Amino acid sequence: MLAEKLLLQLLIVLAPVLLCSSLFDHKKKWNIPIISGIMHSLAAIACIIFNYSNYGIIWDLRYAPLILAILYAGPAAGGMVITSIIGARLIMGGGTVYFAIVGCLLTAIVPFLLRKCYWNTSSNRRVRFTLLSGGWSIVLCYLSLLTYHYLNGNTFKIFINIPDLLLFALIYTGSLTLAAKLYEGQIEKAKMKEEILKAEKLNTLSELAASIAHEVRNPLTVVKGFLQLMQQDEKGKNYEYFGLVLSELGRAEAIISDYLNFAKPKFEKLEEFALKDILKEIVMLLEPYAVKQGVRLESELDTSDFCLYTDRNQLKQALVNLVKNAIEATSEEGVVTIHTKSDRTHGSVLITDNGKGMTPEQLSRIGTLFYTTKDKGTGLGTSVSLRIIETIKGRVFYQSETGLGTTVTIVLPGGKKEELVSSINNEEPTVVKIM
Ligand code: ADP
Ligand code: MG
Repeated sequence: MLAEKLLLQLLIVLAPVLLCSSLFDHKKKWNIPIISGIMHSLAAIACIIFNYSNYGIIWDLRYAPLILAILYAGPAAGGMVITSIIGARLIMGGGTVYFAIVGCLLTAIVPFLLRKCYWNTSSNRRVRFTLLSGGWSIVLCYLSLLTYHYLNGNTFKIFINIPDLLLFALIYTGSLTLAAKLYEGQIEKAKMKEEILKAEKLNTLSELAASIAHEVRNPLTVVKGFLQLMQQDEKGKNYEYFGLVLSELGRAEAIISDYLNFAKPKFEKLEEFALKDILKEIVMLLEPYAVKQGVRLESELDTSDFCLYTDRNQLKQALVNLVKNAIEATSEEGVVTIHTKSDRTHGSVLITDNGKGMTPEQLSRIGTLFYTTKDKGTGLGTSVSLRIIETIKGRVFYQSETGLGTTVTIVLPGGKKEELVSSINNEEPTVVKIM
């Protein structure tokens, strides 16, 4: 029975996928293609051995391990499976051997082409790519079947095969979907494990760093104060050196404050204020910085009196960091626009630049502590901003395209003190990144 044989082969196709799961945890990544290649080759050979043959046609799922090996384990593993299939078919012989060899080579083309963009896409897309490769090989199988019957002068036989053809397509796509989903599950598991380890390390590190930063800040302030006093009595070259030392000390102090603000944002003075007022202040504050970079800073603030109740300075800091990033990402003659929208419950600030934008990879890392692409960057600005906005129950959306620019949308809730306090205690923050 065709169904029985194909179901047995479905298990054969899934076996290497399950066995490979331990490989994704393995430290020596180099051996993944080799071991995967061997296991998928064995699966392909087993499929050929346990085939079902009728009307001179051999039915089996040998191309499923081939597609999975190329897509998930790489071209080397794919090459091993192709060699095994061709070898096994040559040993088996028979009238359709050349059809099988050409079919195998043609089947490999689509997964090989898809490999280039395979790992840059989402998990669901990868499953779809696997099915696309499967669909291509089914079309090839049907075409070779048709050609075979045509060459033998009995084209009508194709009609006898129709139920078998449908069953074959069903089990074949089923096996590929199951195998791809299993692979994706394993990849997800490995990624999560890595993330958890990273988060644990970062947590300990950030606690340690916060306590050290706190201890370092006090002596730094004292040193800065005395240096300022000493600078007043100096003239000539030493005066310049003092200026340099003080500016570097100022930088160190700013980094420490940013870091401490990230580790524990302090909302000291809560007050009610209009969103447009704070944005006007920000534009005034950053105008000279934008001019220095050769960037035009524009604002289109709506006229509503949308009010917030929070620590004004913290929110200002958060927005300043984001606008500064927009200015820094924009080249000369570029424009950064700040505009607002508000309804009764929420106010939105949109910071749009026509700068260099971000790739999906960069976008996925934004907001990660110490992530920076700038020579003199600290990678703290965005993390601090996101932390502050999240604490006041706001949400941040990034929309970016390389070469075209970035839009950061900050949605802030209007409200009273009680809502803010409950938001700090209860709500998990949200950052959404859109390409
Ligand atoms: P820093 O500004 O010190 O590099 P941030 O945390 O503020 O640190 O920003 C992290 C990184 O995010 C920047 O180095 C930059 O690559 C990227 N980034 C942030 N905002 C933008 C933007 N508007 N356009 C392009 N890249 C951005
Ligand atoms: Mg920055």
